[in-house]
Amino acid sequence: MLGVKAEAITAEEMAKVDRKAAEFGIPSILLMENAGGVVARIITEKFGTKLKVVVFVGTGNNGGDGLVAIRHLMSKRAKVNVFLIGDPGDIRTEEAHLNWNVIQKMRQNVKIHVVKSIPDLKGVARYLKRADVIIDAMLGTGLKGPLREPFASAARLVNVSKVPVVSVDAPTGLDPSTGEVHGVAVKATCTVTFHRMKMGFLKAKGYVGEVIVADIGIPPEVEAAAIGKRRRLRWRVGEAPKEIPKLVSACLLGVNCRYNGQNNLNEKVMQLAAKEVLIPVCPEQLGGLGTPREPMGIIGGGGSEVLDGKARVINESGRNVTENLARGAEEVLKIARSLGVKGAILKARSPSCGCGKIHDGTSPSRLVKGDGVTAALLKRNGIQVVTEDDLDRII
Ligand code: SF4
Repeated sequence: MLGVKAEAITAEEMAKVDRKAAEFGIPSILLMENAGGVVARIITEKFGTKLKVVVFVGTGNNGGDGLVAIRHLMSKRAKVNVFLIGDPGDIRTEEAHLNWNVIQKMRQNVKIHVVKSIPDLKGVARYLKRADVIIDAMLGTGLKGPLREPFASAARLVNVSKVPVVSVDAPTGLDPSTGEVHGVAVKATCTVTFHRMKMGFLKAKGYVGEVIVADIGIPPEVEAAAIGKRRRLRWRVGEAPKEIPKLVSACLLGVNCRYNGQNNLNEKVMQLAAKEVLIPVCPEQLGGLGTPREPMGIIGGGGSEVLDGKARVINESGRNVTENLARGAEEVLKIARSLGVKGAILKARSPSCGCGKIHDGTSPSRLVKGDGVTAALLKRNGIQVVTEDDLDRII
């Protein structure tokens, strides 16, 4: 089954599930066959038959999945160049070894290249130029830390090729549990991941591309025995799980941080706080302004123009507080990054938090088009910003 709805698990949990499947008597070679078969089927569905395919495989089971995919693609009349990253003598598992031996007997149609070090990658670009699709099966979900050579150089070549890339289980170089990349990782057009969505993919959209979760025949009983019934996240691909925190303007949660020492307590925000993790922030306070403070407004544009140095924030007595609002916005962004935040609910119409429309700095009773300084900075950094006025529409 291929699905868009999935429960996300970590790589460590997936490793436990794999081990438990073996204890249940499900042979690893069968799971490898299912994995490679589904990758080949997806490639055929997406890109057609008679493809020129370049496959990068490693010496572990991820490479084994790639080798199985080659065999299935050959029956769709593919022309394949396979690059083994590593020494054939280092192929680690019996299952991968078996499939490597099969590929050796298909040399009439499969060209095999062994890459033990960076110089062995010379000439790869020539094959990539002619390819219809690249399969990345170098390293799967077991990666920790930065890529070693020649994996890193191979990943760089893949990324500059402009050819669609299908990553097997996880893009090589990406930590599937955290979404972190240390240095370089393959940027896939599509990632076919097995059994369950991996937790880190949510934070790594630029690397995983379209994610397809493929069933490879692991029954729920195996998963329950391996990782128990503890709660896992449910989410649709492309949406943040509810457990990933959102930022919220502190005044909306009843914090007395408004310029006049009061708050903007909002009932809908409070209802949301009962269901989701909300992190309160007040950009003006984080920018070094005290409470109470004088009201302020943007002159010459919105938050975006402030960030570009084309507009200023002036308070009621004419003091320039642009630097404070810019600093506060940076602090909020820092918090967002450290918590992996993808969304924020900010106070409408504020020169710091507002989104879409803000009070005019020259005449506060008027609204002008634009974002607050913090809203503009968060948006520039890929964080979705809404206001409390939007909550009816989105929850
Ligand atoms: Fe509230 Fe935002 Fe103003 Fe801070 S900047 S007081 S959070 S509206």
